[in-house]
Amino acid sequence: MKLTHRDEWRVMVTIKPRIPADLGFIGVASIAEFVAPTAPITVAVLPRRLGNFGFISMSDRMASSDVEADYRARCEEIATELRRLPHVEETSVSCTETHTCSLCGLRWEVLTVDEAADDSTNQDEHSVEGEPVCCCEAIDEFRTERGIPALQRDGVA
Ligand SMILES: [Zn+2]
Repeated sequence: MKLTHRDEWRVMVTIKPRIPADLGFIGVASIAEFVAPTAPITVAVLPRRLGNFGFISMSDRMASSDVEADYRARCEEIATELRRLPHVEETSVSCTETHTCSLCGLRWEVLTVDEAADDSTNQDEHSVEGEPVCCCEAIDEFRTERGIPALQRDGVA
């Protein structure tokens, strides 16, 4: 079965500063007036670790019963706060997804339409698009769910 793990949560923030203070350029307010970005400025704002309470630090798993949901919520909160600022144009929450097989732990990969039809890449004539390639157990599971004839292994008639 495909397991999806979400990690590296971040808030992508596009800013359009108008005055020096928008960039933290303070102390020049009486002699400088505007700033003009020469290209869009996008930065990644990273959430504080769930387990970091400042005065005490523990693993995210100890601090949260649903780490993914809590990081998503924290990033949404950051995005909501930042959107209130006049020089913030756009925010979006993103993360990195990795897919692994619950049976063997390897990266989850599946056959494409072409690979399923190609005898050099498919398992047998019953292979279809979406069939996992990591291990026989995953193939068995996939085929059982869909009523596809099981993979015949070497020495089995
Ligand atoms: Zn597997």
